[in-house]
Amino acid sequence: MNVSIDESFNVAKSSATSKSNSPLEKLSPTVSLEGIEVFNDNPFTLSQVITPSACAPTLFNTVINESVSSNIDALGAEWYDLYAEMNFYYSLTDTNEQYFGAHGEYTNLVAKITRGLEGFWDMPNEVSVRGQHNSTLNDSDKIIEILTFWYGLPEEDAASYADYFVNFINVESTFLIESPLVSFDGFAIALDGQLDQGDIIVIGDGLIELAAEAGVDSKVVWSGIMAHEWGHQIQFNNGNWYPNGAADNAPEATRTTELEADFFTGYYLTHKRGGTYNWKSTEEFLTLFFNIGDCSFTSDGHHGTPAQRMEAAKQGYILAQSAKKKGHILDAETVHESFLAILDAVVGQEEDTNFLAVAK
Ligand SMILES: [Zn+2]
Repeated sequence: MNVSIDESFNVAKSSATSKSNSPLEKLSPTVSLEGIEVFNDNPFTLSQVITPSACAPTLFNTVINESVSSNIDALGAEWYDLYAEMNFYYSLTDTNEQYFGAHGEYTNLVAKITRGLEGFWDMPNEVSVRGQHNSTLNDSDKIIEILTFWYGLPEEDAASYADYFVNFINVESTFLIESPLVSFDGFAIALDGQLDQGDIIVIGDGLIELAAEAGVDSKVVWSGIMAHEWGHQIQFNNGNWYPNGAADNAPEATRTTELEADFFTGYYLTHKRGGTYNWKSTEEFLTLFFNIGDCSFTSDGHHGTPAQRMEAAKQGYILAQSAKKKGHILDAETVHESFLAILDAVVGQEEDTNFLAVAK
């Protein structure tokens, strides 16, 4: 881990705490989503930059840390969490026409990938894929909408916050709203009619930006993340796959469903009628993505170790290969059964925390 990053972060943070001259109280959301399941595949907090996970330092972590240290300041350290949270909530109720990439540079690509996944898994017009952008937090109307709806503020108070964010923080801070970490989400959620919303996949500009900075082709990153999140949507549709949960404890249950999403990803990405990528490109993307796969084996959000995740995806690739001649697409149920058949072997993979350091 990089010591200078820690120092710059700590300096920014202590300065934020000691000055704390912000005129406004911290906010908490007031809307709760009952019984909603969300697969949050890129949980991030600034504090993880100073408290690295048990995993070996990885390429993606290095890129993230460098991104933080390049422009973190006191205001950024103080308000980042709220900004990221507001952007998360906004994506759930954002029914505007969607665009992807800060300037819409990926909009056509995402439309194409969406059509591909819809056709492959026979799920037309079911999942709403949404972008997430830094600019949302520099738009007074959107901030007011977020604060009145999600945080229960009266219109007038919301307007004061919006004014403070847009005309003070965003002007003064070098980190907000510049940091790609402001739009760093990658998740799948099924709102089942709550808030008049259904199945949603959200992928933030910042996630793509930093992944590209780590050297993986943006096209592969988009396809890979969308394929993984789509795997979760397939799981939402098949509640009977794990009627009593995927395991009797949360870390193992999360690991199972995540490994399955990885299996689906490997299958789709390399299938002749799916993503059509070779294993090398697929592996390159997964190596990066599995930096997110943590080594906190007892955490409720445990995704499986990088080695287990790579093996799950590779087994999906092998399954796709087996059908490649005819290009036959197995239905989700059959892919699920194939996954269950290899799960024990995948979990039996050595829990090698140095996997990624070695792999890169
Ligand atoms: Zn996932």
